[in-house]
Parts: sequence; structure tokens; C-alpha cells
Amino acid sequence: MNFLVIDLKFSKLVCFQDKLSLHIMKKLFDNQYIPKLTLCLLTLSITGQLLAQRHQALFKKVDKIVEKKYSYLDNLYKYLHKNPEISFQEKNTAKRVAQELKKLGFEVTENFGGFGVVGVFKNGKGPTIMVRADMDALPVKELTGLPYASTKTTKDDLGNEVPVMHACGHDIHMSVMVGTAQALVALKSSWKGTLLFIGQPAEERSGGAIAMLKEGLFKKFPLPDYALSMHSSATIAAGKVGYREGAALANVDMVDIFVYGEGGHGAYPHTTKDPIVLASRIVMSLQTIVSRVISPFEPAVVTVGAIHAGTKHNIIPGEAHLQLTLRSYTDEVRNKTIAVIKRMVKHVALSAGIPENKLPKVKIRAEYTPVTMNNVKLTRRLKKVAENMIGKENVSDTPAVMAGEDFGRFGRTDAKIPICLYWVGTVDPKKLAEYKKANKQLPSLHSAYFSPVPEPSIKAGVKTMTASVLNLLLNK
Ligand SMILES: [Zn+2]
Ligand SMILES: [Zn+2]
Repeated sequence: MNFLVIDLKFSKLVCFQDKLSLHIMKKLFDNQYIPKLTLCLLTLSITGQLLAQRHQALFKKVDKIVEKKYSYLDNLYKYLHKNPEISFQEKNTAKRVAQELKKLGFEVTENFGGFGVVGVFKNGKGPTIMVRADMDALPVKELTGLPYASTKTTKDDLGNEVPVMHACGHDIHMSVMVGTAQALVALKSSWKGTLLFIGQPAEERSGGAIAMLKEGLFKKFPLPDYALSMHSSATIAAGKVGYREGAALANVDMVDIFVYGEGGHGAYPHTTKDPIVLASRIVMSLQTIVSRVISPFEPAVVTVGAIHAGTKHNIIPGEAHLQLTLRSYTDEVRNKTIAVIKRMVKHVALSAGIPENKLPKVKIRAEYTPVTMNNVKLTRRLKKVAENMIGKENVSDTPAVMAGEDFGRFGRTDAKIPICLYWVGTVDPKKLAEYKKANKQLPSLHSAYFSPVPEPSIKAGVKTMTASVLNLLLNK
């Protein structure tokens, strides 16, 4: 009973004055009022509290730095928004990202894996933390009416003139990465370790991450202990963030099916092998993969997005072309879906009397986007960090989505680096409430009307990203 009273006393003292309580505790221990184990536990509790207090003090500093430096990031964001470049053309964007990192004292390597930028900031012995921002925009004509809207156009791979817009928020991502670099450099006396900051090109075409890895990102630069990224959300209010443990974004595959037949006159179908009818049968058969082959407990999508065949009403063409997209969350479901597509296509064609040498060809695009598999432990940890940084009310769990992101590749190398990509809200809270009330859909990512509110979005992004990196640097 006595013991309990002493213990309670300590808890109180620890809260008010650490040094004093430590001193009293030692006295009590010397006089054998409390056993050794209790002393250890109490010491641990004090250390934990001191650490938490230290982190909290650091977070306050982060908050101040971000508020103070925001106008710089606002200018940077608007510059990037006005000057978007599509995948594999991010020359000027990359140059600007490189300049920003150089200005802060990073050693910068440019044109790494296309227009990739690698910034390294060494600050003594400690963990290496990677932060990645993607840099490419989309061939979309901006219709937001914003004063800093993009009016840019460019030539695509086929030589067509196309409009360009940051319709996926990658301009927010770059601004958040630069803001995080600013805050961490300003606080460099508080941590030790290495920052590996990546400007990644060609995310939208799923070619950037793989190109940087192939060029030796994890061999030529310090291997990260953790890799972090964020993505703008078109459904979360600006100022808030969301986390998803495990599969956060899907495996994405693009598939082409070339169907061959024997063309002829539309009035004599019996003399032909109609590839349009065959392609239609294939489309219908594919619908049974998700409904009858994959377990109802495993999410998957098989969508035929395009059918191309024929030229005229009364001609049966010689071939048809189907374009599909596949989505899944595991390698097993992905592999099974692909195998079943191949099997079905072959046998439907055989049943239509197509000879072996004219069976349809199924082409799977080699550079697919793998699932973004957020490390559960790391994600849980960073969610707590975000709660401490911007308040519990601004942090939520978010559902997985069937969109894809090639950030997942950084966690799939032999090093199996724990990764986490989280969502940063960008929607005006008033607009969010109005749309919800009217049961209307907000403009999605990739929409010509996607218009993030820069200030609260970027601030929440920089604060949570900086706090996350600090937390990982201070206790690997
Ligand atoms: Zn996108
Ligand atoms: Zn994106």
C-alpha cells in the first residue's frame, strides 16, 4: 500500500519536474524505500516523456518554420502550376527542383533515369530517409479558371499538339518536398543522418521509378532505411491527411488483344470469320473473370476500354483490337487474371473456328505499375506522428483505391525498404460540404477542373512530411 502511494507521488512529480523527481527517486532508492525494478521503470518513463517533450518542442519549431516560409512555397507552387510538362518532358521542372535543393545545400545529380533529380544532404551518422515527389503533368486542358491556370501546350510522342495541366497535383508534391527540405535543413542541429530527396519523372506513364532504379538509385546513392511520399487527394479537405495500411493503390496493367479473322462482304457472313463477333464474345467472357474466377474477397477489375475494328457498314473486317486495363492488389490475383485472359481468349477463338496460326495475340505492357504496399508498422507510426503534428481531428484512415502509383517500386527491390505513401487533402472544406450535401461528385484527380487550395494543402503536407522524417531520423 505504502509502495503505491510513493509510486503515485512519482507520477505526479515526473509530470511537473523531471530533475526534481529523479533526485527524489534516487534518494528513495538509496534508502531502499522502493525496489530496483521500479526505479528502472520510472527512469524509462522519464526518458520516454523527455523524448516525447523533445519531439513536441521540435514539432512546434516545424510549425513556425512552415508558417514563416509559406509565401516562398506559394510562389514555387504557382510557377510549377503555370509551367507543367508531360511525362518524359520534365526538363525545366526538374531543373527548378534541382535548383531548389542545391540552394539548401543538397548535393544534386540531375538527369538520373530520364529527367530524374537526386538530392543528398549528409548531416552526420544516422539513418537515411528518402522522400520522393513526382514531377510530371498530364495532357489535359485546364478549365479551372484560376488566375495561375496553365495555358501551356506541347507536342506528344506522336507529334500531336496537346494541352498540359498539373491535373494530378504533382506540383503540390514538389512544393511539399522543397518545403520539407527547407524545414529539415533549418533544423539540422536537431538531427543526424542523411536525406535522399528524389524528383521523379514520368509517374503518369509508370516509367520514372523503374528508370531511376535501373540507373542505380539504390547503388550509387545511400540506401534509404525508409522511403516516403505523399499524394494529393481530391476527396479529403485541405489541411487534413489520410493513411492506408497495406495495399493503398493497385497493380495496374494495360493489355492489348489483337483478334484475327477472315474478312469479306457483310451480306455473306458465312464465308468469313467475323473478328467483331469474336471480339464481342471475348469481351463477354472476360466479364466472368472477376465474377467467377477471382475470390469475392479479393478486389480486381477487368475493363475493356476500347474496341477498334472495321471501316464500313457492309464490310466484315479482317481483325479487331481490344484495349484493357486490369487492377488488383496482390501479385497472385494479377498473375491469375492475366493467365485466365490468355486461356479464355485462346479457347473462345478456337471455338469460333480460328486456326492455330491465327489465334489472338495478348500483349501485356511490360512496364506495369505495381501495387503501392504501405508498410503496416511504418504507416501506423507515421499516422501517430501526423496526429501529434497537425491534430488528431485532421488525420484519418482512408480506403484503398484502384488507381496506380509507381512509388510502390521503391519498396519492391531486394532491399525491401519499408515505404509509406499517404494522402494530403486539397479540397476547399466549404466546397466539400456543399458537394456532399448535393450528393455531387467533386472533380477527381486528372479532371480539367481539379483545383487544389494551395495554402492549407501545402502546409499540411510539409508539416506532416517534416515531422515524419524527423521522427524516423531521431528513432530509427
Ligand atoms: Zn495521376
Ligand atoms: Zn499522381
